[in-house]
Amino acid sequence: MPRQSTIATSAAITGIGLHSGSSVSLELRPAKTGTGIVFVRADLPGKPRVKATATNVTGTQRATTLEDGEAKVFTVEHLLAAFSALGVDNCEVEMTAAEPPVTDGSALPFVRLIQEAGIVEQNADCQYTIITEALTVRMPDKFIAILPYDGFRISFTSVNPHPLIGIQYGDYEITSNSFIQEVASARTIGFMHEVEALKAQGLALGGSTENVVVYDGDKVLTPLRFSDELVRHKILDVIGDLALAGRIRGHVIAVKSSHALNTALAKQILASV
Ligand SMILES: [Zn+2]
Repeated sequence: MPRQSTIATSAAITGIGLHSGSSVSLELRPAKTGTGIVFVRADLPGKPRVKATATNVTGTQRATTLEDGEAKVFTVEHLLAAFSALGVDNCEVEMTAAEPPVTDGSALPFVRLIQEAGIVEQNADCQYTIITEALTVRMPDKFIAILPYDGFRISFTSVNPHPLIGIQYGDYEITSNSFIQEVASARTIGFMHEVEALKAQGLALGGSTENVVVYDGDKVLTPLRFSDELVRHKILDVIGDLALAGRIRGHVIAVKSSHALNTALAKQILASV
């Protein structure tokens, strides 16, 4: 049985949030066994905390929101994906705002931050949820399911009407190596025609071609890192959202899944234990 892990030393970055546009400092700190990933709102009185677990999900519009009492954080899925894929079970994430830095729109800067801190084993076994029967969340034109499997694998089909995107399929056995090489650097996408509506809702205020792959009409304004960058990013989001159910052994099969479906599946997985 693998051992639980935390980071060896603290590490910090600063930046702005994708949706809030707010400046934020984020510091990762080692945490003891059994802690899980816990966000600490250092900017609020009493520094309230919220644990990264599916029962704390309160919102899924364009990003995943966690809330426990006064502590609210959102757009945490890319950082959670990096912890999950690198095998970090326990960490305190202290932030001076509700949203982590968007970085370059991918999880790679969080991978580098965790690697800079170092990963250390702790004196307790990991807990795995082993999927023994299929669990499914469906909506009329999309679904996500998880099936029994000896590993952690994600097969995702994305469907997008944009002529440069279309149907993309990605299938990866998720290990720290495959995550770093194939998934972590894939960025969020956005469309120019959505920008004004999103901003009117207080979303995407920190978004730019520096941190989002932006499509305008039939053009892409941001050079792609992969020809199928969108589906790789969708897989990144699934990893981050399912991290809210802890370490899992199973095969995820998804079509057009979103944060709402991903986190609903995470809740089902937690409830199945
Ligand atoms: Zn994302």
